[in-house]
Amino acid sequence: MATIQELRSNLAAAVKKARASNLPEDHAAAKAAGLAVAAAISAGAKPCPKCEAAPHGMVQQVSVGRDILEAFDVGCLACHNHCARGFTPELAVDAWNRGVDAYADEAAFDDKGSLVIVPAGWRKPR
Ligand SMILES: [Zn+2]
Repeated sequence: MATIQELRSNLAAAVKKARASNLPEDHAAAKAAGLAVAAAISAGAKPCPKCEAAPHGMVQQVSVGRDILEAFDVGCLACHNHCARGFTPELAVDAWNRGVDAYADEAAFDDKGSLVIVPAGWRKPR
């Protein structure tokens, strides 16, 4: 099975190809590559507790102090502003499955919606 990093590389290549060619089949391939990334991030996540929809995985850029870091969100596309966030896909899925709601957890975000708490043991990627 491809890693999330490999799937993201596939996505970047597919998007580049679709933009260059503008062919419907290349756009469809890019969309499929994006869905593969989303599915890999949210692998193992339980259905939405509010609406039972399968959650969607996303990569986000978040500011922590002066750093812009990469984080992963697992959330429901049907329920507005319902997601859990982690600094790895596994942490995001675990938080989601534990019922964490990032938007309801005031301690995790500042008033601009930026994550301000970094989990213990997490290190900035190089
Ligand atoms: Zn939902």
